[in-house]
Amino acid sequence: MNIKVGKLIYSGKAKDVYETDQSDKVVVKFRDDITAGDGEKKDCLDLKGYYNSIISSKLFEVLEEEGIKTQYIELLASGEMLSHKLEMIPLEVITRNIAAGSLLKKFPFEDKQVFETPIIQMDYKNDEFHDPMLNDDISIALNLATKEELDEIREITLKINSTLKKFLESKGITLVDFKIEFGYDKDKNIVLGDEISPDTCRYWDIETCDTLDKDLFRQGECGVMDAYKKVSSMILDPEDMERFGFKEM
Ligand code: UDP
Repeated sequence: MNIKVGKLIYSGKAKDVYETDQSDKVVVKFRDDITAGDGEKKDCLDLKGYYNSIISSKLFEVLEEEGIKTQYIELLASGEMLSHKLEMIPLEVITRNIAAGSLLKKFPFEDKQVFETPIIQMDYKNDEFHDPMLNDDISIALNLATKEELDEIREITLKINSTLKKFLESKGITLVDFKIEFGYDKDKNIVLGDEISPDTCRYWDIETCDTLDKDLFRQGECGVMDAYKKVSSMILDPEDMERFGFKEM
């Protein structure tokens, strides 16, 4: 698609969003910056933006095939995703299939406990308040969404979870948990935005149980980019690798 990139309209911890010459489309640039612990731990890892852009693109395509609306249009140059422009809802929607991470610090679950019914948790995306956990009444009182919208978000999220879990399992990856964000498109539909990458999910190798995500960075391990590259090579078909210009570095 012939598109002209305009000015920067949003800069987050790991992505920048640019306007384009088409008012309903933006370009999302995935950067190499990586942060953890409420932004306290920071680094820049070569190729991270590239791997996250191709992993997110593939997973958005898998979801689109199941009829789930996403912001994704196409991957342009390396690390740049042409997307529908969304008005983002400041909710971090976290789905948990297995107990890990902050859940274990807050509640007496057993480490690696498997949830037969996935847990959906919504946090308020607000750095000043350190992303506190919400309930429906607080979300509604803060005007973040209506009850009907919260129910719709939960319904779409469960479908996203079952689709991703099945797809990733077929590629040898256990989907432990993940965070997604939604926004409204120009017709006020609720659409999946942001990214689905090893920065925002916990992925374990089914065979070895090795961690293949940002937990490696959180824990100060080496080989973070090797893990992101491994996820890319596990989920992409040869045809995807060609389309996305997969770099085996
Ligand atoms: N997550 C995220 N951004 C956040 C908080 C969580 O992408 O600001 C993801 C995280 O990578 C994990 C899931 O959501 O896959 C659950 O995270 P958790 O609440 O366990 O927090 P953490 O232990 O990562 O601080």
